[in-house]
Amino acid sequence: MSQKFIPLSVPNLKGKELEYVTHAVETEWVSTGGPYVSEFEEKIAAYAKCKGAVSCQNGTAGLHIALEVCGVTRDDEVIVPTLTFIAAVNPVKYIGAEPIFMDCDDSLTMSVEKLKAFCEMNCSFTDGKLIHNLTNKHIKALLVVHVFGNMADMEGIIEVANQYNLKVIEDATEAIGTYYLEGKYKGKHAGTIGNIGVYSFNGNKIITTGGGGMIVSNDEALLEKAKHLTTQAKSNELYYTHDEIGYNYRMTNLQAALGLAQLEQLEDFINIKKVNYDFYKNEIKEIAGLKILDFKENIRPNYWFYALYVESEYALNRDQIIKFLATKKVQARPIWGLISDQKPYEGSQSYKIEKARWYLQKIVNIPCSSNLAREDAAYVIECLKRPEVM
Ligand SMILES: *Cc1c(COP(=O)(O)O)cnc(C)c1O
Repeated sequence: MSQKFIPLSVPNLKGKELEYVTHAVETEWVSTGGPYVSEFEEKIAAYAKCKGAVSCQNGTAGLHIALEVCGVTRDDEVIVPTLTFIAAVNPVKYIGAEPIFMDCDDSLTMSVEKLKAFCEMNCSFTDGKLIHNLTNKHIKALLVVHVFGNMADMEGIIEVANQYNLKVIEDATEAIGTYYLEGKYKGKHAGTIGNIGVYSFNGNKIITTGGGGMIVSNDEALLEKAKHLTTQAKSNELYYTHDEIGYNYRMTNLQAALGLAQLEQLEDFINIKKVNYDFYKNEIKEIAGLKILDFKENIRPNYWFYALYVESEYALNRDQIIKFLATKKVQARPIWGLISDQKPYEGSQSYKIEKARWYLQKIVNIPCSSNLAREDAAYVIECLKRPEVM
């Protein structure tokens, strides 16, 4: 029998998706009105234990709105990570603000140590504002990404943010379901610790609505503003009165139908992902030169993506592994290219991004779908045990 293709991360739609989507079609509520949208918002807020949630078309749109409601304008700068997906940072540019790229630590999330050093050494704090000495611009916000479903060091991040009066936007697009098990934020979910957070339901995320996103917060004023902006900023619905420039960013009832069915299965998906993660991890640690990176110990991660760390003693380097696995019908990908290296960000500021550059060369993502069968994971491991130099 020929080997089947094992994808990296694909949707798993075996719950009530068809039932709910059918209901949306049968009742002819397919657009941004309809009961599923508010129900999905309420259920996400309840799941993440926060005050409210505002749906949007995708995570990118959610981040755009999050920055806007936090008051970021074209005159401001925002501290962002460089080692993440570019959609985390593009919204800073949509607003016309400037990113400052920060390094990661060994968890691949933002380095609090470097963040502190940057604020201390390269900025001044005057009249309650953090001013970047080089540009004389106000750094108004800090955008952290919970990479691969891990949790950024939110205790450290919030401390710095409080010290320098920075708004904290959490890109939790990859981390729905991740929460603290202990410490100051025990029980708190990724996305609900800073001022505002965003989830994504893109097709490759742990739960999907095809495309979709959700803004979450404990700040009701921010939530209200977000709802207003995502729905065309109407001040009077009947008479088409609008009090600012809004967006058509609200999720549709069709998307929300999928989302509700997916949310019902989220904890099951996390359990499956944990089992596969532990299996990979235990087997791969026996292979010289390879290991699977840990999630932090004080959290319950959602185990979204598995990061294979490739040391130089392994027979293949990052690119060779990806090529080799492709010949074995296993889809693998390198971690993202640094955003600060991408063409649209050529002139942007970066702060000591050595670690990000290091991990860039070392990390490969391997199949992690919630419908990955154990024999599929076993096959991937077998391939890694017998690398073929191409
Ligand atoms: C997926 C993702 C986004 C964007 O979410 P979409 O729903 O695809 O727009 C943003 N940031 C990160 C880190 C992501 O992984």
